[in-house]
Amino acid sequence: MAGDYDIIIVGGGIGGSAMAATMAKAGRSVLLLEKSAVYQDHVRGEWISPWGVVETKRLGLYDLLMSAGGHHVAQHVTYGETKTPEEAEAAPLPLDAFIPGIPGPLSIGHPKHCQTLFDEAVRSGATAVRNVDVTRIETGKTPQVEYTHEGESHNATARIIIGADGRTSTVRTAFGIELHQDKPHHMFGGILVENAHGWNDRRQAIGTEGDFAFLVFPQGNGRVRVYGSYPLTDRRRFAGEDGVRLFLDSLRMKCAPENIHLANATPAGPLMSYFNNDSWTDEPMVEGGVLIGDAAGWNDPINGLGLSITYRDVRMVSDLLKENDDWRPELFKPYAEERYERMRRLRFAAKLQATLDAEFGEEARERRRRYEERSKADPTLGAHAAAIMAGPEVLPPEMFTEERRKFVLGKN
Ligand SMILES: Cc1cc2nc3c(=O)[nH]c(=O)nc-3n(C[C@H](O)[C@H](O)[C@H](O)COP(=O)(O)OP(=O)(O)OC[C@H]3O[C@@H](n4cnc5c(N)ncnc54)[C@H](O)[C@@H]3O)c2cc1C
Repeated sequence: MAGDYDIIIVGGGIGGSAMAATMAKAGRSVLLLEKSAVYQDHVRGEWISPWGVVETKRLGLYDLLMSAGGHHVAQHVTYGETKTPEEAEAAPLPLDAFIPGIPGPLSIGHPKHCQTLFDEAVRSGATAVRNVDVTRIETGKTPQVEYTHEGESHNATARIIIGADGRTSTVRTAFGIELHQDKPHHMFGGILVENAHGWNDRRQAIGTEGDFAFLVFPQGNGRVRVYGSYPLTDRRRFAGEDGVRLFLDSLRMKCAPENIHLANATPAGPLMSYFNNDSWTDEPMVEGGVLIGDAAGWNDPINGLGLSITYRDVRMVSDLLKENDDWRPELFKPYAEERYERMRRLRFAAKLQATLDAEFGEEARERRRRYEERSKADPTLGAHAAAIMAGPEVLPPEMFTEERRKFVLGKN
């Protein structure tokens, strides 16, 4: 079926713009439709795991991200109430250890990241339109999208529509694909700070003290993305005028004195909070359409893997489109199957991580203490970190079972 375009992509964030650039480079005609006029900081992903970095390399986008200010983090420290800061800092985890040739995770600001990929899509030959309002999506044998732009209505047809429009995807609804969701586990807020020059900008850190768990990801030049988990029952804790101050003050912890550099830093964006959960779809494709990125289901951000997941989606779907001329839904079976298992495993890892780091109170503290103690005797207890850093496929299936969960949490 011929159309105005080979591909229409709805949503020009990370997934949509990376896909548009990749397919335009492969000689396909691409229409990329993005709702926003300017990319804003909505407190989204800015840390790419080493396995996500591999995906950017496979897509030929790594050098572009580095030239746009990509910053590698080299070491990880876990602070906590069960050890002194000196003990925590004595042996930082080297982050180049997970994948040969990858120096560690990659940090880059989200708005800059989106704009860089969008510009690359344009440079590669995609027709890319900002500030659009998509009014109708039709799949089937003649996929088409109706949208308005600058007051004018347009109708475009294509061989396939790619939905890359994020969590609340209207494309997913138009495709009639059901989204499964877990119950929220904890609240998760984040803010970008600058002038945090006292923080070691090659070191990421996490830690739980009292009823707050922090995560710190430096971006270089004194800019640092800081996140915090706190109980669902306290969801309005950082709402209101004092929210930013209260959030930054929550970082002043006995277990992590270095956090003072973050608490005293300058806010450089909004503080936004979300509830954290997982979601997934059974099959992210229909006749004339396929979903990628958050639109196809997301992992609890406590793992920091949404960007890596999205880049893998782009790589898998674009490879299938490039290597085949028949774009019927069956083509995407390998993607659907791999993604289903990938998300299942990452859901497991997120639940484990959230239980260990983002539950509060005496029982949770005791669980953390026991986990730390048992980890010293059996370092394989923390094996799920390999799924987060090196990819969920690197561990055998038995590492993602209820039995394993009980064992790690010390319940048997
Ligand atoms: C608090 C928080 C922290 C996170 N931290 C991390 C992290 O450290 N590392 C990590 O890897 N991931 C993280 N993530 C997840 C990560 O941000 C997402 O998984 C990733 O951005 C998904 O990319 P995407 O392109 O699918 O969607 P998005 O980034 O959401 O992009 C969707 C795009 O579609 C556009 N759009 C929406 N609707 C329409 C429409 N109708 N028409 C046209 N355009 C539309 C939007 O404007 C947007 O540009 C975090 C998420 C949250 C909530």
